[in-house]
Amino acid sequence: MVNGLGRRAHLAAADAPPEVVDSDIDEELHELEAVSRNLETHTLSANTRRAYEKAWRSFAGFCEAYGFEPLPVHPQVVRWYVAWMSTQVDDWGRPRFALSTIRQHLAGVADRHLRDGYLDPTGHRAVGDLVRGLAKLRATRPVRKRPLMLDDVTRVIDAMPHDVYPAGVSATRDAAALWLGFAGALRRSEAAALRLSSLELHPVDGIHLRVGRSKADQDNTLPDVVVLPFGRTPRTCAPCAVHRWVALLRTSAPAEPRTRRQLAMRQLYGHQLDTHVCGAHGSDPLIDGSDLALPAPLLRATYRNRKDARIHEVGVSGDALHTMLRRRMAEAGMDPSAYGFHSLRAGHVTQARRNGASTEEIMRAGRWQKAETVNVYDREFNPAARNSVMRLGL
Ligand SMILES: [Zn+2]
Repeated sequence: MVNGLGRRAHLAAADAPPEVVDSDIDEELHELEAVSRNLETHTLSANTRRAYEKAWRSFAGFCEAYGFEPLPVHPQVVRWYVAWMSTQVDDWGRPRFALSTIRQHLAGVADRHLRDGYLDPTGHRAVGDLVRGLAKLRATRPVRKRPLMLDDVTRVIDAMPHDVYPAGVSATRDAAALWLGFAGALRRSEAAALRLSSLELHPVDGIHLRVGRSKADQDNTLPDVVVLPFGRTPRTCAPCAVHRWVALLRTSAPAEPRTRRQLAMRQLYGHQLDTHVCGAHGSDPLIDGSDLALPAPLLRATYRNRKDARIHEVGVSGDALHTMLRRRMAEAGMDPSAYGFHSLRAGHVTQARRNGASTEEIMRAGRWQKAETVNVYDREFNPAARNSVMRLGL
């Protein structure tokens, strides 16, 4: 111990400070050390620090089990630790440590070494190569979200409180979002990016959506047109869900809270879930083209407390849609752990295939340029599709 600076004494870059005899200076250095330790605690967020501590406990446990000294550790042991993490699976055979978690564990090991004045063993080339190799291996077989079939989607939507205020405001939006994801086979970023002006009411087809170019499809310069067809029944009618939501958006315009609330309540209480409100079968449509004139976001963020709900001007994020789907599934008594917003798109493909859709039809709906992408879904979720085992007359 030099001047009580403790663990700083073995930092390799410079000799430890000479012993200080003046007690005032000694006192000041102690204060400076206290200040610097306080500053150190602010370099990482509380969450990161907790994650690093958890990572370190896991690593130390691994070292103890195999008889290694964890601090300082040889890079070879870190390689074995990465290999060990990569082989851990849960009851379903899925990786227990995601790649991001493995990287975080390595960051925790690095942080502990650097803080204690040692070289970072995770910076060794051999460790980096292993992680890159694992990233490639995992990338070839992504953990896909499981598909939500038509019955699943209607179950989730039926469980929502549509005709109560204020909960019905977000329920109306979420029902529209679910149908956009399922019927429209939209990615979450595409659903979140939709504008009112991206929609066009069509007397025969239902609703046309113009979906912007996606990242996966850079060569296609024209926007794709997605069709939301009139449903056979109001409960499977995507246009009805969109009409209800856009009609509710109108009620968010008045500045006066009481008026706004009354309009929204009237709209929600009047919800006839068993009647078309989209114009199908001679019904009166709730909205017309003038409601779709503005380039304002279609799916908006909502806020509510116990007695009031607000619809914001800003759109929802793709992440919020993902979280929403999982929450709505849980509310419907379903386990959401293997699902996400992408489950709607995967569900569209899977349901359509089971109902006899051709690859070409699915490519059109999913806006895919390559049939191979559709085949990936078939292999994962439709092992019976276009499989000769189904023609054996069993
Ligand atoms: Zn309808």
